[in-house]
Amino acid sequence: MAKARAKARRPGKAAKKKVAKTPKRSKPAKPAKAAKMAKTAKRAKSARAAKPTKRPQAGKPAPSPKRTEPAVAAKRKPAAPAKSAAPPSAAQSYKPLKAPQHPKPGLEAASPFEMRVNLAKDLPETDVQTALDSGDMGFLHSFTTGSTVDGPGVRVVAWTTGCQWRCRYCHNPDTWTMRNGYPVSVANATAELRKYSQGLKVMNGGLTISGGEPLMQHRFVVKVFDAAKKMGVHTTIETNGFLGERLSDEDLTKIDLVMLGVKAWGGELHKELTGRDNGPTLEFGRRLAKLKKKIWVRFVLVPSLTDDLDDVGKIAEYAASLGNVERVEVLPFHQMGRFKWRELGIRYHLEDTKPPSAELVEQACAVFRAAGLEAH
Ligand code: SF4
Repeated sequence: MAKARAKARRPGKAAKKKVAKTPKRSKPAKPAKAAKMAKTAKRAKSARAAKPTKRPQAGKPAPSPKRTEPAVAAKRKPAAPAKSAAPPSAAQSYKPLKAPQHPKPGLEAASPFEMRVNLAKDLPETDVQTALDSGDMGFLHSFTTGSTVDGPGVRVVAWTTGCQWRCRYCHNPDTWTMRNGYPVSVANATAELRKYSQGLKVMNGGLTISGGEPLMQHRFVVKVFDAAKKMGVHTTIETNGFLGERLSDEDLTKIDLVMLGVKAWGGELHKELTGRDNGPTLEFGRRLAKLKKKIWVRFVLVPSLTDDLDDVGKIAEYAASLGNVERVEVLPFHQMGRFKWRELGIRYHLEDTKPPSAELVEQACAVFRAAGLEAH
C-alpha cells in the first residue's frame, strides 16, 4: 500500500465496448448503468474533443451521404451548419458530465493518494453504529482499478476508512476517520465489483480490501468478500492484524490471502511508531499459520526508524517460523502522503526523512532471504 499505485485501467474489454456504444443510445440511460457511464464520461469527453464526428461512427458501415453533416452543410451556408443542422450526438447530450461540479469526488479514484474528508460528516452516529453492527453498509475512501501492487495479478482495491493506529509514516491519514469515507452498501459494492469480475479472473487478479484498517468494519468486509467468492473472485485483505480476533475461522474461509503489516519487532519501537502494541498482530499471524492461510508480510523500511537490521532479522525469524508466508514485501518509505498531514494539520514527524537508498532496501531484503523467505 505504500508503493505508488499502478495506473488506473479497466481490467476487461467490456468497459471500452460500452464507451464505444454509448453514442448509439437514443433512450435515456438505465439507472443501473448510470454509475458505469459516469466513470467513462472522462474518456467520452476527451474522445469527443479529439474526434467529435467520427467517434459515434466507429465500427459502422459508411453512412449515407444524406445523413452526413458535411453534406447537409454543403447545401446551406458553410459557416454555421453544425449548430443548426446536426442533432447533438449521444455523447454531446451526455448529462453525467455535470458530475465534476458535485462537491464530493466520485467513489472511484485514480489512486488512494487523493485527499478525502468528511464524506459522511452528516450521517447520524446511530446510522454509523448500525452500519458497523450489521455490516450491511461500510465506509470507503475510494476504490481503484488496475492495481498490480496490492496482491496477486491485477486488482480492484477498496480503500476503507477508519484506523485506530497512528503510524508515523502513514501516507493516508485521511483514512483514519471513518466519516471521511463514503457510506456504501454491500449491494452497491457487490454490483461495482461484478462489472470487473470477469476481467479480474482473466488477469489472475481479484479484490483487495485495504485501508485505513479494514477490520474496523469487519462485518462489512466479510460480506463483500463473501459476495466476491460467490463470483469466483480471489480475495485479499491488507491489515495491520490488530483486530484479527474479530474474524472467525468461518470468516477467514472467505479470504484467500492476508497481507499482514509487520511494522517493527521491539515493543517499545512499535508503540512509538504506531501508538499500539504489536502483540495482537503477531498472534494473528500465528493463528493464520495454524489455519494454513497464505500470508504476504509487508514491512515499511524507514531510514533511522525501522532500518535496524537486527530488528529486521527478528521479523524475518518470526515470519519464517510461521511456515505460511509466501513472500515478504519491503516497502521503501516515501513522501507521497506528506501533503495530507499538512492539509489535515497533523504534526508529521518525518517531514525531513528521505526514502531509503536502494542499497538499504536490498540489505533488508537480504535479511529476509537469509531466513529462507522470498523477499522483494
Ligand atoms: S495501520 Fe498505520 S499505515 Fe495503515 S492506515 Fe493505519 S495508521 Fe496508516
